[in-house]
Amino acid sequence: MPIATVDPATGETIETFEPIAPDEIERRLTAADTTYARYRLTGFAERALLLGRAADLLEEDVPDIARTMTLEMGKPVTAARAEAAKCVKAMRWYAEHAEALLADERPAPADVADSGADRAAVHYRPLGVVLAVMPWNFPLWQVVRFAAPALMAGNVALLKHASNVPRTALYLQDLFARAGFPEGCFQTLLIGSGSVEALLRDRRVAAATLTGSEPAGRSVASIAGDEVKKTVLELGGSDPYLVLPSADVERAAATAVTARVQNNGQSCIAAKRFLVHADVYDAFRDRFVAGMRELTVGDPMNEDTDVGPLSTEQGRADLEELVEDALARGATALCGGQRPKEQTRGWYYSPTVLADITPEMRIHREEAFGPVATLYRVADLDEAVALANDTPFGLSSNVWTRDEGEIARCVRDLEAGGVFFNGMTASHPGLPFGGVKRSGYGRELAGHGIREFCNATTVWHGPETGG
Ligand code: NAP
Repeated sequence: MPIATVDPATGETIETFEPIAPDEIERRLTAADTTYARYRLTGFAERALLLGRAADLLEEDVPDIARTMTLEMGKPVTAARAEAAKCVKAMRWYAEHAEALLADERPAPADVADSGADRAAVHYRPLGVVLAVMPWNFPLWQVVRFAAPALMAGNVALLKHASNVPRTALYLQDLFARAGFPEGCFQTLLIGSGSVEALLRDRRVAAATLTGSEPAGRSVASIAGDEVKKTVLELGGSDPYLVLPSADVERAAATAVTARVQNNGQSCIAAKRFLVHADVYDAFRDRFVAGMRELTVGDPMNEDTDVGPLSTEQGRADLEELVEDALARGATALCGGQRPKEQTRGWYYSPTVLADITPEMRIHREEAFGPVATLYRVADLDEAVALANDTPFGLSSNVWTRDEGEIARCVRDLEAGGVFFNGMTASHPGLPFGGVKRSGYGRELAGHGIREFCNATTVWHGPETGG
């Protein structure tokens, strides 16, 4: 994939970039390595000052970087501003909380009495240079939610961003540099995915995190596995959205629209499969479809646009294939199911609701990465849970119910990294984020996220060391 800024609203190539040469990659690796040797010795207060400055600078840049993101990947500019603001919040959150999250842990003396320790503790030390392979769909947020904790923990970062968001990728490097982070703390490498293997195998790279598709995750994880290097994988999702009889159907349907089309439908944690109890199916369907029809599809730079274009032409082609496969096998399009007539340029796709889904349709098991919902009628909670789990993915899940028994059952049985009741899945700095099954492993955000790229070091003192 060429490294280029291509406007998805028009298909016009705005700027192309040459991948950096091998000797430049080598120079950057050396810079990361030598910077890490010094940066790891800095304290939390110094790191927090730097990250806080980055947050302040980003806050000033919100309108500009939002337009850049919209230009590069087509999200509505209102959503782009919200994404940038969320990054500011996460940076400040980690600047404030990292020290406490990584405080030494002292086990209760009774728990280690027979280890012979006079005293013992766990210290969280950084791992080193972490390679981040990141996707275009939240081009700022995906990077920041990795980088803020990683830098606070004392690691340094190399970013290989998606090839269609080079301006955002370069902005990030510039942001951390302007904030005063030493050169080498955060570097953007404009490289294709073919250059990732050599980087991963380089002895100076300690670990990697990848957010993206399953094939990319599998490749990075297998190379890292071969090198015995730690990885965190945040991959695809096809989150279920259960609506049960006690739900507030009005709210459930209104939220369902946002949960499906946020970010033009290109969110890993978007609700994609709507599993609705027969008692409330008709009421939910009518409101949900009406809400999807009412969305304003158009130029993502317009303030009143709800749904912009898909990010790439290939992305739209993949989505169209999934929908056409379903329609050919008997699905019903309750709305959409095609490109909008009004947009003659760019990679738009109409908000779509498909009903009458059967297991042999590809969309039943594959991730629909665009504004396409699948709607299922279920007879009871057993069927809802079985259908919810009948997917290779396990990122998050959403359940609308007021019944405590159903709540307990869903927490126990849904195979996902999150269960969100009476609302939609969203990430938050203070809550861990990640999946199970083919959605990946490891966690980002909260204390879980910052400890992923730490060496949890057991420090044991025998009696002769005193203390
Ligand atoms: P992708 O093709 O996997 O790209 C993601 C990143 O991986 C890009 O930087 C890409 O570089 C790189 N890449 C691709 N193939 C690679 C390989 N074989 N080895 C090393 N790097 C490789 O993903 P996408 O289609 O752009 O993004 C959408 C996917 O990401 C969806 O499945 C979505 O659900 C998932 N996602 C997950 C989360 C989460 O938190 N779980 C969040 C957002 C998105 P190039 O651009 O140069 O190809």
